[in-house]
Amino acid sequence: LNSLEDFASDKEIDFYYGDILTGKLCLYSRENLKWNKMRFIQTIKSELDLFLKVKYLYTKTCYLSITDELTSLYTRRHLKSVLSQEFARAKRYGTMMTVAMVDIDDFKKINDVYGHLAGDYILKEVSKIFISTLRKTDFVYRYGGEEICVLMPETVLEKAYIPLERLRSTIDKTNYVFEGRQIHVTVSIGAAMYNQDIKDSEELVEKADNRLYIAKKTGKNKVAIQDNE
Ligand code: GH3
Ligand code: MG
Ligand code: MG
Repeated sequence: LNSLEDFASDKEIDFYYGDILTGKLCLYSRENLKWNKMRFIQTIKSELDLFLKVKYLYTKTCYLSITDELTSLYTRRHLKSVLSQEFARAKRYGTMMTVAMVDIDDFKKINDVYGHLAGDYILKEVSKIFISTLRKTDFVYRYGGEEICVLMPETVLEKAYIPLERLRSTIDKTNYVFEGRQIHVTVSIGAAMYNQDIKDSEELVEKADNRLYIAKKTGKNKVAIQDNE
């Protein structure tokens, strides 16, 4: 073929998985060929159909294995693999990296007062704020129930503090309404930066978690980046 424009598009075949369009086969010819009469087209069609179904299911499975169903954030399982890679990179090349642990304040109370569905709604809304507030290069994971972990590659702690504080403040100021009732939400954040003394990624997360505990202990709704505040 010189170029596809030289040919009239005689036939287009759509491939579906249920009602999802997985692909398109466009057949072109100079002469007005009767595609339907050509047996090899039928064979190509059924082979391609199977291939596109498998490809679609594979892509979907990959997505589901790293995405939390409720919040659409990455899963904790995905954090484990990314974090150990990033940690190895930091150790080898001396790049900076900050990890922040975030926990919704008094979330049990939100569930108790407004109901479990309201709690789910808050989790979804707060997760959206993470995505809209942080940079595209920061990664956000649902770590546990109402705990979220932020991985900030190539970022020193002092620089990480600015977006984390903006995140805390945005969550605090946002007006959440569920079934006509207003809900006030705050989060506590603990952050720690990689250094040569930290032996593995678990230790880095633990350090951020200890600072989260300090933020909780000293009044909540704050960002802690030191071991004693
Ligand atoms: P603190 O300020 O110290 O963090 O107190 P807290 O009440 O937030 O902490 P606690 O760990 O006692 O409570 C967390 C609650 O989060 C308990 C659990 O039922 C709730 N939770 C965990 N996962 C989900 C979820 O997916 N949806 C809802 N609605 N609630 C959840
Ligand atoms: Mg918690
Ligand atoms: Mg909590």
